[in-house]
Amino acid sequence: MIAEDAQLHAMLSRLQLTAIRDRLDALLQEAARRDLDLRQTLTHLCTAEVEYRDQRRIAMGTSIAKFPFVRTLEDFDFDAQPSVDARLVRDLAISRWVANGDNVLLLGPPGVGKTHLAVGLGRAAIARGYSTLFVSAPGLVANLAKAHDDGHLDDRIAFYAKPKLLIIDEIGYLPLEKDAAHLFFQLVARRYERGAVLLTSNRSVGEWGDVFGDNVVATAILDRLLHHSHVLTIRGESYRLREKRRAGLLRPSTTNPST
Ligand code: ADP
Ligand code: MG
Repeated sequence: MIAEDAQLHAMLSRLQLTAIRDRLDALLQEAARRDLDLRQTLTHLCTAEVEYRDQRRIAMGTSIAKFPFVRTLEDFDFDAQPSVDARLVRDLAISRWVANGDNVLLLGPPGVGKTHLAVGLGRAAIARGYSTLFVSAPGLVANLAKAHDDGHLDDRIAFYAKPKLLIIDEIGYLPLEKDAAHLFFQLVARRYERGAVLLTSNRSVGEWGDVFGDNVVATAILDRLLHHSHVLTIRGESYRLREKRRAGLLRPSTTNPST
């Protein structure tokens, strides 16, 4: 490396322009090939750096979020799920609701794409720069209960209160203990109007008294969650079962009159 190159390399390192530093030759060659003037070349270099940083930020945010699977809103087949308002979902993907600390409830029977949409909206929020954490409702409650027993509940609630978006998946698949409902309430109250919550549930909100084993606490939780919220109710049958039926692997449904 000639001295001037070494100096440039060191300066790019010091300025933390690592994408420009590591791809300098290729970027400059491309600029020459496209006949870019000096200002355009600078834009070309900066674009490479910004894109690299965005990618790295999204990759890091996605790994911190602990999604259960990789799904995007682009993968979601809206035609197959007419009860989902595609326009509303695309609007939610802009993540203004996350910025405002509003809530989203995704309700519907198993297999209709609730978790898929939750992950897709979570990824959209990360792309917009909002920290996101995905937890299952049973996992969350078990974690809070353990922290409570160990005398660390405040720390744990602070941990779950921190991400700008908390996704709580699968409320209602398992009944919760009464204590669990109180722990859950504390978290919801802490996040209220500060951090966005996305919840999925196979039970309608009218049944949450049963889910939480306590109507008073369920009402207090819903009161806060529903105050600034978007509720999407998905109907129909499981997407996978439908695909199998289409492929002729299952006989037509006789049990699900809603499809
Ligand atoms: P739920 O959380 O409602 O039980 P999931 O989101 O886990 O359902 O969906 C089950 C599977 O079916 C997942 O692999 C998901 O990606 C897929 N799926 C569901 N609905 C759709 C859809 N409309 N388009 C594409 N894939 C879908
Ligand atoms: Mg699910």
